[in-house]
This record gives sequence, C-alpha cells and structure tokens, in this order.
Amino acid sequence: MLEVLRLVKQYKNFVAVNELDMLVRPGEIVGLLGPNGAGKTTAMRCCAGILKPTFGTIRINGADIQTDQAKAKAGLAFVPEVPSLYELLTVQEHLKFIAMCFNRLDIFDQQGEAILDRFHLLEKKNELVATLSKGMRQKLSVACALIHEANVFLFDEPLIGVDPSGARELKEEIIRQRDAGGTILISTHLLDTAEKLCDRVLIVNKGKNIAEGTLAELQSDTHMEGQSLEEVFLKLTKEGDEATTIPHA
Ligand code: ATP
Repeated sequence: MLEVLRLVKQYKNFVAVNELDMLVRPGEIVGLLGPNGAGKTTAMRCCAGILKPTFGTIRINGADIQTDQAKAKAGLAFVPEVPSLYELLTVQEHLKFIAMCFNRLDIFDQQGEAILDRFHLLEKKNELVATLSKGMRQKLSVACALIHEANVFLFDEPLIGVDPSGARELKEEIIRQRDAGGTILISTHLLDTAEKLCDRVLIVNKGKNIAEGTLAELQSDTHMEGQSLEEVFLKLTKEGDEATTIPHA
C-alpha cells in the first residue's frame, strides 16, 4: 500500500508538488499522468525517500518513509526515469549486489539468471554496466527491482528507450506483480499504454491533483463517454488552471 497525504515539495520559492494526495492499494496499477513539469518525478522521488518533502506524509506498507525508512524501503522498489547504476560492476555483480543490500541472496541464487534471461540480459551478464545501451540499463534497473521481492513499485517512465519486446515483457511483469498483490504506481506520457495497463489514473498539473479515477469515471465526469484517455487528458489539462479536483478513490 502506498499512501501520500498532502505532499508538498518546494524548491526554494518554487512549489513543484502542492498538497498532493495519492492512495495506491495492493493489487492495483495506478497511472500518474501529467504534462512536463507537473511534478510527477518530484512526487515519486519523495515517495522513494530520495527527496525530503517540505510537508506531508508518505507511508509504504504503513511505514513512514521519513521516520521508519528501513521498514518502508524493505518493500519498496523504485525504477527511476534515468537509471542510476554502479558502472564498474558487471551486470550479474550488480544484480547480486542489490540482492545483498536487501539481504535476499537466496532470491539471487534461485532466480537471478532467470530474471536476467527474461530481460534479455543473460548474454551480457559478465559485461560491465558501463558498456550497456540505454534500453539495457533500463532493463537492468527493472531486474534490480524484482530481485528483492518488493511489493510496492514506483516506475518513473519505465518504457522510454526500451525495445518493443522488452516493453511487452515489462508490461507483463507489471501485471504479474499486480495480480500477485503488488502496489504499483507508474508515471508515463504513453497514454494508450496507460489506458490498457492501469486500473486507475491520477492526473496532476502544476503539482496538484486535477482528476482521479478509472477511464470510465473520468469519461463520465468530463461528459466524454467513449473518448480515449488521451482526449480526456488533453481536455482536463487544458482546463487545468481552473479545474477542480475530480476524485475517485
Ligand atoms: P516530466 O514529465 O517533464 O518528466 P515531471 O512531471 O516529472 O516532468 P518534475 O521533474 O517533478 O516534473 O518537475 C516539476 C517542477 O519542479 C518543474 O518545474 C521542474 O523544473 C522543477 N524542479 C525539478 N527539480 C528541481 C530542482 N532540483 N530545483 C528546482 N526546480 C526543480
């Protein structure tokens, strides 16, 4: 479970995230959508414990990310937009290192090779991370998220730069994790993918929630029955300056 209550993140005088509430339950994929600069990455980095919120509370599986970090992070996997990896480890060493950090070498021993194989990285297992292509780095970042049996996943634009078969594999993995009871928040600009993959979406603009719900709920609220998520999103974000929140928890 991911709970975000009245999250505010200010960079000097600029408010990037403004009283954002989010709730993602186990067994749910929620899409975090918004125009460039809406505050999605900032919110996700706060949820991952990388940025300190200016105000607000974030709980991962009930544990506060600021006051109970070890417990909160034990169940958390964050896949950032630009993977931050240890360049001088080999691919296999990298995966093993992450498993060791979470005290889950057992998973590495049992599933490490299978996970690398699933993301087409097995033949690169002895290569340095520094030599990987952009898409391969993204796939390794995802593999690292799977190696410690997290149940709350934060994916920030995970499909950018990944080839079609890798993207298919990743989407199937996200669905597998959801079906196994995982809590998944995924930020993306790929609205057709979000429409197919996400159970609900949360649309932010200028740091604020402007709408939340299933596609059917958003279509109904905007009187756009039968229209795509892209059409609904464009309408809501165009009206974003004046729009009031349309909540559907
Ligand atoms: P995109 O879709 O383009 O990735 P985003 O929704 O993820 O955008 P953020 O990266 O969270 O948006 O940025 C939100 C706002 O905060 C932007 O206006 C950005 O310029 C600003 N911002 C982000 N990081 C910093 C920083 N370190 N210092 C100052 N401003 C920042």
